[in-house]
Amino acid sequence: MTLSRLMARLLARAIRRSDGCLIVGTAESKQRYWCVNYDGKRRKAHQAAFEFYNGRPPREGLEVCHRCDNTRCIEETHVFEGTHAFNMADRDAKGRNGTLGEASPLAKLTAESVLLIYEQTQNGSDFYDIASRFNVSVVTVTRIAERKTWKHLLCPKELPRIACPERRKLTDRLSIWQPELLHLTPLPA
Ligand SMILES: [Zn+2]
Repeated sequence: MTLSRLMARLLARAIRRSDGCLIVGTAESKQRYWCVNYDGKRRKAHQAAFEFYNGRPPREGLEVCHRCDNTRCIEETHVFEGTHAFNMADRDAKGRNGTLGEASPLAKLTAESVLLIYEQTQNGSDFYDIASRFNVSVVTVTRIAERKTWKHLLCPKELPRIACPERRKLTDRLSIWQPELLHLTPLPA
């Protein structure tokens, strides 16, 4: 089966939820991911969806991540490519691995917000302002700024790679509710 035929089928049967997610697979299925076959390849549904929406697979070294926390979601605006480190940090933040969860001080933050906080600390924004915007403590902001936490996500090699492709989409979304966040200077290359 070709990718476009596969996607036509998936999209016809997917369920749109009130949170905007587009879920594939049956409700009874206990599978975390929904697997599909096309062009002789076996893939997870969200990977196939990314490839279909973007007309290409994720770039070398990157994997398909979810903005939402639904591994079976194929909504176009919910899937994006990121590094493995980003995906894992995001997963930890959302408590998906079951070891950190809501009790973790990281639980309030997603990898995306960590990147935004980091950017703002580098722009000279007041740490107290940043903390209140993101509803975290100043200590948390300081630790992110100093790369004491999330260093796997914020290591200089990873940072420009993760942040740049995602940044425009992020600013688009943020402009709706936090216009002041638009005044970000470019990340160090
Ligand atoms: Zn979703």
